[in-house]
Amino acid sequence: MDTTPPPKIEARGLFKRYERARHDALQDVSLRIEANAFVTFVGASGCGKSTLLRAIGGLETPTGGTLQVDGRPVHGPGPERAMVFQHYSLYPWMSVRENIKFCRRLQVHTRDRSSADVEAAAGRADALLRLMGLAHVAEAWPNQLSGGMQQRVAIARALMSRPAILLMDEPFGALDAQTREVMHDLILHVHRLEQATIAFVTHDVEEAIYLGQRVVLMAPRPGRIDTVYEVPLPARREQSMKHAPEFLALKRRILDRIRETSGMQTDLELLEQLSRTAPA
Ligand code: ADP
Ligand code: MG
Repeated sequence: MDTTPPPKIEARGLFKRYERARHDALQDVSLRIEANAFVTFVGASGCGKSTLLRAIGGLETPTGGTLQVDGRPVHGPGPERAMVFQHYSLYPWMSVRENIKFCRRLQVHTRDRSSADVEAAAGRADALLRLMGLAHVAEAWPNQLSGGMQQRVAIARALMSRPAILLMDEPFGALDAQTREVMHDLILHVHRLEQATIAFVTHDVEEAIYLGQRVVLMAPRPGRIDTVYEVPLPARREQSMKHAPEFLALKRRILDRIRETSGMQTDLELLEQLSRTAPA
């Protein structure tokens, strides 16, 4: 008997077509993500990255194919999958600590909760405040915090229910470069400590390589997986690796491929032709 566990996430021949759309948002997407993997997704705008992530999160119903988490079909959201988006969507009227503790699943049956449950939740919230370097701002309001700090609160809140899977859609897209660097090392630390499986969408190729064990490159019209790259870096990442020749070579390869798959290449060639034929 085969006793190997099913992959954490598995898509087979996944299709998604939105109403009145000219192309499939996802066409024949097949993908396996093993437990505890950190997989990043890049690709031109409109290639279906968000659609795929939302489908895994159960927020989008595929038009065809199968999508399983832990070997079971996805039917809607579940507490084992948490999402983090670019916009933090914190509750402005709650303190940082309250935002983190406010976890839908834990709130649903508030009346049935024992004092032990409440204590456990408080303990988890405190641990997350420490993990995310937020202990000193626990009683602050979200609008008193920088963008980077607010996004840490959003990540801590997502981790509150101990999700096995973290789905992140351009979570650092609104942050400046320095803050983003700090967030990279923080999320790698979270990944090691919480042993979560992470699927992470970004438009930043450097971010995708630095964080991912694998980089999935998607292409648009129709949205599909184009190439999957194994990242040739040690498991334990350090900022200095961004200057390693293998890092830079992979970055160049991926950027070139994005350009080829997005039609930007043709735009550039056209531009060149135009400038050649332009009157002096
Ligand atoms: P990405 O995140 O890679 O930019 P998306 O998954 O957002 O791509 O979109 C993939 C394609 O599906 C795009 O052509 C987009 O316009 C289309 N699309 C996304 N969401 C919707 C929606 N709710 N209704 C109709 N079309 C959509
Ligand atoms: Mg998107």
